[in-house]
Amino acid sequence: MIREVHPPELLSPWRTPERVALQEAARTLAEQVVLPLADELDPQKAEMPRSLIEALAAEGWFGITVPVEHGGLGLGVFEYCLVSEELARAWLSVGSILARGQGLGTQVVDADRRSELMRRSATGDWIGSIALSEATAGSDLAGVRTRAVRDGDDWVLTGSKRWAGNALAADFIEVLARVRDPEQGEPRSAGLEPFLVVKERGAFPQGVTGSAIDKIGYHGFLTWDLELDGLRVPDADRLTGLYGDEGAEADAGGFASVQRGLNIARVHTAARAVGVARGAVEDCQRYLQEREQFGHPIGDFQALRFALADMAAEVAQARAFWQQVAHLLDEGEPCESEAAMVKLLATEMAVRVTGQAMQLHGGNGYTSERRVERYWRDARLTTIFEGTSEIQRRIISDRMLPRPSAS
Ligand SMILES: Cc1cc2nc3c(=O)[nH]c(=O)nc-3n(C[C@H](O)[C@H](O)[C@H](O)COP(=O)(O)OP(=O)(O)OC[C@H]3O[C@@H](n4cnc5c(N)ncnc54)[C@H](O)[C@@H]3O)c2cc1C
Repeated sequence: MIREVHPPELLSPWRTPERVALQEAARTLAEQVVLPLADELDPQKAEMPRSLIEALAAEGWFGITVPVEHGGLGLGVFEYCLVSEELARAWLSVGSILARGQGLGTQVVDADRRSELMRRSATGDWIGSIALSEATAGSDLAGVRTRAVRDGDDWVLTGSKRWAGNALAADFIEVLARVRDPEQGEPRSAGLEPFLVVKERGAFPQGVTGSAIDKIGYHGFLTWDLELDGLRVPDADRLTGLYGDEGAEADAGGFASVQRGLNIARVHTAARAVGVARGAVEDCQRYLQEREQFGHPIGDFQALRFALADMAAEVAQARAFWQQVAHLLDEGEPCESEAAMVKLLATEMAVRVTGQAMQLHGGNGYTSERRVERYWRDARLTTIFEGTSEIQRRIISDRMLPRPSAS
C-alpha cells in the first residue's frame, strides 16, 4: 500500500493558530495553482503570468511585512519566510517574487508619496526589480561603477547592470549607483546610493536597454543585463534606503540599508532553499514507493530508506534554523552572523538533498519528465545569489577572527 505524503506541520516553539492557518493557505495555493504552472512554464523558460501575481496579491502576500497602516498585513520576517517556503516548494521564483513587494522601492523622501507607494507595494501593484550587481561587481558590491551625475533637478545614470531579475515586468527598478568617489579614510562603499527608476510594466524606459540572460534554472523570472545610457532620474526619486522597513534608513546612508536588507534576504533565501529541498524529499517519498526493481519497491532497500531519512532530517534542521533566525530578526536582533549561517547551511543542504533526490530517481531523475531536475537546478542557484556561500563564510569568520589585511 502506498503511504501518502504529508508535508510537515508547523512544529515550532513559535507556532500560533494564525501561523498554522497562513501556512495552510500558502500550501494550498502552492499545490493547486503554482505547481501546475511551474510544470508547464519552467520547461519553456517562461515568466510567471500576471494572473499568478494577482492571486498572490489577493492574499495580501506582497505586503506581509508592510505595516497595517500602509495597507499591509503587518506581520514579520517569520510569516514572510513561512509563506515563501511553501511557494518555493512549488517553484523557487514564486517564493522570490514576494521579495519584490514588501515595501521595496518606497523609500522616497516625500512622506505622502512614500505612503502611497507603500500601499501600492502591499497590494502587489508596485513590484520591482533590484539592480545592484554589475559584471565587475558581484560579491564585491562596493565595486559598483554605474555613475549618477547631478544635472539640474535630475540625476543622469550611465553604466551597466547585470542580473536584474524581473526588470522588464517590473513597475520600477532599484539601481545602485555611485554619486561620488570615496574620500580618503572612507570605506569603498561610500558614495553609493540607490535610485528609483519608475517604468511601465513590460517596457524599459528611455535610456535603458536590456537583454535577457539565458539561465539554466530559476525560470518564472527573466533575468536581465541592463545598459544605462543617460538615464534621467528625478532627484525626488533618490532613495533613502533600499528596503521597506521604515525609520532607520533616513540616517543610515544607502549602502548601510542595503546591508541590513540583505540580512532579511538571507533568511528568506534559506526558507526558499528549504522549500525546494522539501519538494525533492516529498517526490522521493512517492517515487521510492512506486518504483520497483528486483521485485520490490526500491523503498524496501535500506540504503535508500536511510538516504531518505538523512534528507528529511537535514531539511527539518534547516527549517528549524530559519525559524529561529527569523524570530530573532522580528525581535529586533541584528543577527548578521546568524543570517549568514542559516543562508550558508540551508542552501548547501538544498544542493546536497536535491542531488541525492536525483540519485534516488535513477535515470528518470535525469530527465525533464520529473520535477526533481527542476529542484536540482533551482537549488544550485541558492548557494550563489544573495551572497555566495564563500561570502557567508567570510561574514561569519570575520566576526570570529581579526580580518586579514589583504581582503
Ligand atoms: C540567477 C541569478 C539571479 C540574480 N539576481 C540578482 C538580482 O535580481 N539583482 C542583483 O543585483 N543581483 C542578482 N544576482 C547576482 C548575484 O547576487 C551574484 O551573482 C552573486 O552575488 C555573486 O557575484 P558574482 O556572480 O559576480 O560572483 P563573483 O563575486 O565573481 O564570485 C566568483 C567566485 O569567487 C568567490 N569569491 C568572491 N569574493 C570572494 C572572497 N572575498 N572570498 C572568498 N571567495 C570569494 C565567490 O564566492 C564565487 O565562488 C543574481 C545572480 C544570479 C546567478
